[in-house]
This record gives sequence, structure tokens and C-alpha cells, in this order.
Amino acid sequence: MSNENLLGRSRAAVWHPCTQMKQHEQLPLIPISHGKGVWLYDFEGQRYLDAISSWWVNLFGHANPRINAALKDQLEKLEQVMLAGFTHAPVIELSERLSHLAPGKLGHCFYASDGASAIEIALKMSFHFWRNSGQTQKIGFISVANGYHGETLGALSVTDVALFKDTYAPLLRQTYQTPSPDWRLAAPGESAENYALRCADSLAQYLEQHHATTAALIVEPLVQCAGGMAMHHPMYLQRVRKICDQFHVHLIADEIAVGFGRSGTLFACEQAAIVPDFLCLSKGLTGGYLPLSVVMTTDTIYSAFYHDEVARGFLHSHSYTGNPLACRAALATLDIFEQDDVIQANRAKAAQFTQAMQPLRDHPRIRHFRHLGMIWAFDVADAAPDFSLAFYQAALQRGLLLRPLGNTVYFMPPYVIEEEEVALLIEETSSCLALI
Ligand SMILES: *Cc1c(COP(=O)(O)O)cnc(C)c1O
Repeated sequence: MSNENLLGRSRAAVWHPCTQMKQHEQLPLIPISHGKGVWLYDFEGQRYLDAISSWWVNLFGHANPRINAALKDQLEKLEQVMLAGFTHAPVIELSERLSHLAPGKLGHCFYASDGASAIEIALKMSFHFWRNSGQTQKIGFISVANGYHGETLGALSVTDVALFKDTYAPLLRQTYQTPSPDWRLAAPGESAENYALRCADSLAQYLEQHHATTAALIVEPLVQCAGGMAMHHPMYLQRVRKICDQFHVHLIADEIAVGFGRSGTLFACEQAAIVPDFLCLSKGLTGGYLPLSVVMTTDTIYSAFYHDEVARGFLHSHSYTGNPLACRAALATLDIFEQDDVIQANRAKAAQFTQAMQPLRDHPRIRHFRHLGMIWAFDVADAAPDFSLAFYQAALQRGLLLRPLGNTVYFMPPYVIEEEEVALLIEETSSCLALI
């Protein structure tokens, strides 16, 4: 195995995601041979600091010994069984533990394999709840401007990122976008909180007119990640929870990216002390090991499907729903949170890292430096149209995996990152900024 050999074969046989394949005529693919902690290694000894947790999924490093051990144990017992008519210990234990950890009483867990499928499930469940409740006119969905919820047709219908959405517009359902509470959009002199409240008022105005035909509002609590790490005040969530209750509209919290400690609390909703009707989780759920997602919901929703009539049930399914290996990886991940008191430990780490980032904050090209939990982001002024790709390449040459979103550079490292690695990240990011 060599780098050269693999990247040619990959380009020929593998159609890579989120990629214009023609760019790989110039831009080499990076074959990875193995990973350890925050580092990814190629076949020639070059290493890359995974500062974006391999698309925001990894929490406790690559090849984590504790998660590896749990998976090896599970492999010897049961790799997969269908979850219709059958059940197994890992899926039961995981559901019980998630329900215990999540806010409120989200006691019913429905599983899928990726984030977009969890969004599809939440949308279908909300619609079907209203239908089962005799409110067949409640079929509309509201999402937040600049939001991202995945790439399947239903999830894309509530996504608001033009590059991913516009091409497929003829295939998508019409949905309504309510203004984003992103604090960068506040008027001069307006606080993040007041701006958030103004955005919530706009939602209330829309619902005055349209509540009778609206099933649900879907939000990314506290951070719109794919939309450029846009952060908002928790008061927004508090207010929209009240508005949704007032107008009998479900609140779907998409914590696929921000769940599992990324926002500084186990779930972002905790910071606004709200309970959504549906909580969607994936990405960090298995510590970044295996595809698994879950939609958690309430007794009220569940009861509306519980009936003698089969078609009133939620008949949605995926072949690998509740896969035992993925559930074991998730259980091992929850064990680490508990045994290492990760949320508390991250608080101290994050404060230290934020302080170390002062030179970036003071950098003349940096705007809107922002931080929440284990996410840091800033916008770069005077960025060329190809900034993102050029920065990505410059970072790779310096041993960093960073993928800016437009002119927004962000760090979302695995939680096991150490002080020296953060120092390296800051130093090399600064040298990229001097070039790109
Ligand atoms: C990544 C992401 C999704 C989609 O998850 P996939 O597993 O990529 O389908 C949905 N919502 C948010 C907020 C995400 O960050």
C-alpha cells in the first residue's frame, strides 16, 4: 500500500461525498492508513491533526481503547439482528440511558443509521401525529434560515444552504424559513439576546397566520453548524418553545452536531432549559465509530400511534435499525462521559484553549471570533472566492485537517486534544492566515 497507488484507485472507483470530483485532478486525495487519538496517519508517515473530528463525529479520539474493547466484546456476541419483532440488550440499555440523560421525559427512542434519516423520521412522525389526531391539515414545516438538516429529500426540504439545495429545488417540498437568530445579524448596538427575541417574534407573527397548517418547527439549538458555525442566544430557544406550545406546533431539536457535549452541556437544549417534542441525535452518538442515529420523543407523541389499527402505527424502518455494534459503541461512549466526568473536564479545557487563542482573536483579519463548548470559529476578512479550498490545502501541508465553511474557519476537535496540540493548531492556523 502506498499513498500514490491508493489515491489514483480511489479517484477512479470511489465517488466521494460533497466533492466536485474533477477538482481531484489537481487536488490529491489523502489516503489514511490508521488513526490514534487526534491524529490521522497516511502511508508515508505524514500525520494530520483531526481538528474537525472527521466531520464532527469523533469525540474521544481515533482507535480509542475503551470503545475498541466494547466493540470486540460485542462482535463475539451479536453483530446484527432485525429490530422488528426482535430486540437485544445494547439497544435496550442505550434507550434507557439516553432517556435518563436527555432533558424532560423523552422516553421513546426510534433508531436509524444517519442524521438525515433521523430528520426524515422526526418530520414523518410529526405529520403522522397530527393526522392520527384528526388534524390532517397540519402538514407544513418551518425551519430556520441558514439551517442544515441533511441531504435526503425531506431533510433537504428544511435545509437552507443554497449550494446543496438549489439544484434539487424541483424535487423538494415547500417549507417556510423563519429568520436566523445568528448574533452576527443583530443591528448595530442590539444585543444578541434582543436580536434573538426579535427573530422569535417574527416566528410568532408567521404562526398567527399559519398555525393551523403547520406541523413542526425544526431548529439547530445554539449553533447552526454547517451554516457557518452561526451561534445564537439561548433565549431564542426558550421563546420558540413557548410559541410552539401556544400555537400547537411541534418543536424538533436537531442536535445531530451539537449533542454529546459539543455545546458545553451534554445536550444544547439544557442551556435554555427546554424540552423539545423530538430530539434528533447522531454524529457523536457512537463516539464517531459507527453510523447510528436516534429520534427521541414523548409519551404524548408515542400514544397517538399506539392503536389496534396497524396503519396508525409508525411503520418506518431501516435494515440496520438499532444495530448492536453501533449501540455498543454508543454505550462505551456514554461510559466515558460518566467515568471521566467529561462535561466538567471539558469546561476547564475549553477555558484554557480559548485563552490560548487570544493571538487569533487579535489577528487583524479575524472577525466575529466565537466560542461555545468545544467549538471555536471566526470569519476571515478579505477572503478570496477560493479561500476555503486554498486554506484547506495550506492547512494539510502543515499537518492540520481543517475545512473552512466559506470564509469561516472553525475548530471542533476531539475532546481528547491536549494543550500542546492546541498550541500547534493555533500556530499553524496563524501561518495559513498569513498566506491565504
Ligand atoms: C450532519 C448533520 C445532519 C445530517 O447527518 P448525516 O449523518 O450527515 O446525514 C443533520 N443535521 C445537522 C445539524 C448536522 O450537522
